[in-house]
Amino acid sequence: MTIRLRLTLWYTALLGVTLILFSVTVYSALTANLRFQLEQSAALQARNIAAAVIQQIQGDVVVFRNSADNVFFPQVELFASSVGAQLLDSDGKVLKRSENLGDIPIPYHADTMPRILAGEEDRFYYVTNEGAAFLVYTVPLMVDGQLMGAVQLIQSVTTALTALTQVNRYLILGTTISIVLAAIVGAFLARRALAPIDTITETANAITRTRDLGNRIDIRDNASEVGRLAATFNEMLDRIQRLFQAQERLIGDVSHELRTPLTTIQGNVELLQRMAASPTGGGLRLETAGELFKESLREVQAESERMNKMISDLLLLAQADSGALQIQMAPVEMDTVLLEVYRQTRRLVEHYKGRADALEIRLGSEDQAQVRGDRDRLRQVLVNLAENAVKYTHDGGVVTFSLENRDGWVRISVADTGIGISPEQQALIFERFYRTDKARSREMGGSGLGLSIAQRIAQAHGGKITVESQLGVGSTFTLWLPAYQENDAESPLNLKHTVIAGTP
Ligand code: ADP
Repeated sequence: MTIRLRLTLWYTALLGVTLILFSVTVYSALTANLRFQLEQSAALQARNIAAAVIQQIQGDVVVFRNSADNVFFPQVELFASSVGAQLLDSDGKVLKRSENLGDIPIPYHADTMPRILAGEEDRFYYVTNEGAAFLVYTVPLMVDGQLMGAVQLIQSVTTALTALTQVNRYLILGTTISIVLAAIVGAFLARRALAPIDTITETANAITRTRDLGNRIDIRDNASEVGRLAATFNEMLDRIQRLFQAQERLIGDVSHELRTPLTTIQGNVELLQRMAASPTGGGLRLETAGELFKESLREVQAESERMNKMISDLLLLAQADSGALQIQMAPVEMDTVLLEVYRQTRRLVEHYKGRADALEIRLGSEDQAQVRGDRDRLRQVLVNLAENAVKYTHDGGVVTFSLENRDGWVRISVADTGIGISPEQQALIFERFYRTDKARSREMGGSGLGLSIAQRIAQAHGGKITVESQLGVGSTFTLWLPAYQENDAESPLNLKHTVIAGTP
């Protein structure tokens, strides 16, 4: 059963039950009230007549029996044309009756006589074959505890009954119309309220069919629950679309990046095969052939290493994206880490430039600073910045490390006097695979992943990496980390592990 139908049924049933209960209550109250009023009025009139009769005969039963004809009987029909009365003796014989009754007999009720004999009043209703309704009210004539007879009053209640029947009809009609209307309005409202859900389903179906993640739900009412669901659905689609696009871009980048080293490896392997197949060494001199052989193998090895490193870096980024990369949080003396990196940079200069004194490595301001984080990962970030400074600075340049601990932030900067980065490119260098000069970066063994990994690690520590640079003058990369204070231990941010959050 659809939610729409279920809602409509519930709504209609609830309203129906309420209306029926209301109608029954109104009808019962009205009937009871009308009955009470009719009976009160009949009793009053009957008692008045009885009192008048008793006063006239002054309690003399014999006189009453013998001369009932002389008893003045009030003309009750004067009060209302629909009322008549009669006088009975204690045996139930009619002694006298008001003129408007003619000789129509007043119907008899089995309970009446026994009650009158017991000195009690009695009332009953009856309906004639023609549909006229009457109330018969009987009052005993008691004198000194002795039953002398009774006064019977008959009153037409047809009008009251007709009015009641009319009310009943209106109530039934009103209730039925209300229930039907409620069902129609309920179905309409449910349809309107749930329409966005249909749209969501259709959109989801369209996406499944066409694989077009660009579809969105047109939201008209942001405030309603379903409107919010649609908005959330749209946001989710935005995110999925961004993720898909990022993934597509990544696959494109990765295949492109892997193709270059693979081509080199393939070329070298073919060369080696040709050399091996030709017994004369392809007409080359033996030493030359040996050199070529070694050179090819070196290239194969270098490219394999590059691929290996790229795949590890990609794995790390993928783990960061999926939230699976955990880092250990512990107090870290950043000044010590910086000194280690400073020393390592000398070896990096030798590696990249061929001699250790190709660049001057300096230490600038060096505050003491403690942060909470993963020592190895933070070191990895600084080594990456140092490596870049060395790679992108010409011989004779200067690389300066400094550490400042101010205003709750530990700032570690690596400044170089290298080639610099243009303002437009500064915004892009933290994206994976982005390199200002592909050839140069490749030549240095770079893949364009270093800074994006470094930025992720910084963010996972609640920090960031910023860059200031000028083309041809140099660049300064700064790692910002929140300083660790002793009372940080109580801070809710003091997690034992933190996960590197993914941002596509
Ligand atoms: P790569 O492996 O290419 O060094 P990175 O992600 O570390 O990758 O850096 C991305 C790009 O940013 C580099 O290719 C380079 O163009 C630029 N870059 C990074 N550091 C520096 C620097 N200190 N001076 C000039 N350019 C830099």
